[in-house]
Amino acid sequence: AKRNGRNRAALFEPRLREAQAARLALQADLRGAMARGELRLNYQPQVDAVRGTLSGVEALLRWDRGGIDPVSPAVFIPIAEESGLIVEIGRWVIREACRQAQAWREQGFGQLRMAVNLSVRQTRDEQLLAFIDDVLEETGVAPGCLELEITENLLMEETELAIALLARLRARGLHLAIDDFGTGYSSMAYLKRLPIDTLKIDMTFVRAIPGDGEAITTAILAMARQLGLAVVAEGVETGQQHAFLAREGCGTLQGYRFDPPLDPETFAARWLQPRTS
Ligand code: C2E
Ligand code: CA
Ligand code: CA
Ligand code: CA
Repeated sequence: AKRNGRNRAALFEPRLREAQAARLALQADLRGAMARGELRLNYQPQVDAVRGTLSGVEALLRWDRGGIDPVSPAVFIPIAEESGLIVEIGRWVIREACRQAQAWREQGFGQLRMAVNLSVRQTRDEQLLAFIDDVLEETGVAPGCLELEITENLLMEETELAIALLARLRARGLHLAIDDFGTGYSSMAYLKRLPIDTLKIDMTFVRAIPGDGEAITTAILAMARQLGLAVVAEGVETGQQHAFLAREGCGTLQGYRFDPPLDPETFAARWLQPRTS
């Protein structure tokens, strides 16, 4: 078995080396991307399950490499995390999302709840709190209108220190959401200790409605109710999923059924209405 293993390693080594080289090239590219203005945010609506009205928006990062195929954030975010570049990129994302919220408010669309993804790596940034304070002051975004999404798996690996930082953010009035919920193994006791407001049901469960996804979705909703947490279901694509989730009491839905992530102009045209009063 050992010999076999070694042979196999030898066989795959050139390919591994190639993959590693590609990652390094991407990493170098990404380093310049911010300076070249290639990063943008798209915005996906979060919709009230019963009324169909807008209840919030999630900012999702896009890397526009002018001519070259776009790289998915699912690919470049892990690379940015590995290299530590995510701290700088993540700050850009927070500022840009808040500036967009400010611009929309100034255009008369009222205050919007803006959700931004936060890499767990960013919770090790000691200046994060001060940075967010500055951005909120600079843009006039109310702390309660900024929600930070952190994935369940990453959060569970984190230290008490990260959790303490989250508690401080929440004490400022920010909202915190657990992303991709249900894929990790957080117990109810663990969740109770976390300073959070919202669970986002992972789309693998939503995709399995009707079917295997129904029982776990119902269980998550019951648990959230007991803990007093809001729930957002992600990846809602069909009317059947929408109807099931609304019936089970899931307050907020997000997914292609409503819209994919949109550029800011399209988002405003489709989802924002001027406030008359
Ligand atoms: P996520 O935070 O779980 O975001 C949801 C992903 O599902 C997005 O992919 C979104 O475009 C996609 N999606 C939304 N509705 C549907 C649907 O109905 N069906 C399907 N099949 N997909 C749907 P995207 O934009 O490619 O982002 C992938 C991941 O990259 C995100 O997953 C998030 O983990 C990460 N990411 C994106 N932007 C940022 C960012 O600014 N910071 C950090 N740290 N991570 C980010
Ligand atoms: Ca998210
Ligand atoms: Ca998610
Ligand atoms: Ca995800």
